[in-house]
Amino acid sequence: MNDSKRLENVIAYVRKNRPRFIEELSSLCRLESVSARGRSLRPVAEAVAGLLERAGLEASLVETTGQPVVVGRASGRSERTILFYNHYDVQPPEPLEAWATPPFEPTVRDGRLYARGVADNKGNLVARIQAAEAWNRAGGGLPVSVAFAVEGEEETGSPNLGEFVKDNAEWLGRVDGVVWEAGYRDAAGRPTLSLGVKGICYLELRAAGARSDLHSSLATVVPNPAWRLVWALATVKDPDERVLVDGFYDAVRPPTRADLELLAGVPDSSDEQARQLGLPGLLLGLRGEAAARRNFFEPTATICGLVSGYTGEGEKTVLPAEATAKLDFRLVPDQDPADIEAKVRAHLERRGFGDIEVRAYAGERPARTDPASPFVGLVVEAMRRVYGQEPVVYPTMTGSGPMAYFAADLGLPVAGFGVGHAGSAVHAPNENIALDDYILGVEVAATLLGKAAVREDRS
Ligand SMILES: [Zn+2]
Repeated sequence: MNDSKRLENVIAYVRKNRPRFIEELSSLCRLESVSARGRSLRPVAEAVAGLLERAGLEASLVETTGQPVVVGRASGRSERTILFYNHYDVQPPEPLEAWATPPFEPTVRDGRLYARGVADNKGNLVARIQAAEAWNRAGGGLPVSVAFAVEGEEETGSPNLGEFVKDNAEWLGRVDGVVWEAGYRDAAGRPTLSLGVKGICYLELRAAGARSDLHSSLATVVPNPAWRLVWALATVKDPDERVLVDGFYDAVRPPTRADLELLAGVPDSSDEQARQLGLPGLLLGLRGEAAARRNFFEPTATICGLVSGYTGEGEKTVLPAEATAKLDFRLVPDQDPADIEAKVRAHLERRGFGDIEVRAYAGERPARTDPASPFVGLVVEAMRRVYGQEPVVYPTMTGSGPMAYFAADLGLPVAGFGVGHAGSAVHAPNENIALDDYILGVEVAATLLGKAAVREDRS
């Protein structure tokens, strides 16, 4: 049997098994796996291992100091290996009253499946396992070797994934490409592919004043921590949106020619985006390529929250005892979260704000894959074939994730696509995917495995 006949049989098998595939996904979505609650998610990890085994892979749970990582592996006809990185944990479902149906009771409405985690990330996880199953049952076995690394702490910043990757670097480092956890159709329904993530440095700043809140008449002689914090924050960014932290842009790698070429293929949605957000226009009046360039290639400094004194109804003349702000910095290659934290501390110190306490949360590094990588070409080919249209290729996601462990530390090409859509409401109430997109997601993963093998035979 030739390769294209095999792939045809695999795709036919996927379509025939649509009801069971959707039921398997629903079953996994029924299992609560909120990593933020800190409870053991072992039963969910075991369920994932069960799915992998039923699909014909060898599965095991790799212990970490947190939730176990589920590893699935199977050899194929060629030595080439495709690794799928996914996660089985989900975000907390609150506020519960905003859900039309309960978050852990998967429900189909109007061709969509609603459940917490269905888009982020169980839909992608199960679709890829079923793609492997389809090759084992209908394609004469896997065309290439397949591996899964499925963690249970992605939604809490992947605190133990680095340790897992280091301990397993020998085999992980030999894979030929990594399929990243997620992806979606854009607002116009075009499938998208992302080749990177931004990094993140998350800080809490705290200014302290008197022992307790005071009568505001004492403002003549008592320092106000709210003002101190505001003055300190004003040194971090200027009204032209330039980050002023000393050395902040030093490590920023300018976009390559290939990066910029991708921008030309990213549709301009700036006006539409501003309209949807209820804004007269985007920041700085940006539109078109200038907006896209800033969106993908510029780091940010964001005040995520600012709390001090009295903010309730009516007036209360109070001099606050403390003021706190939470800040995040979205980073681009080659900025590093630990370095940015050190730079912020030094910057504040130098400007006389050494009294402001800085607390850092776990950061994540940025990562990027070369658009010219042959693996990216394979993924684009598979998507083009299944969707019948060219995918929009983003040089990076604008969010963050633990991609650097694979892309930077192991030097692997990483590309992300998936079964979500622009209205999937990830991390929000009524998370959903379209059932048709789900099956197409299985087909893309299956087609990618087939194409990866063909590519090798030719070379
Ligand atoms: Zn998420």
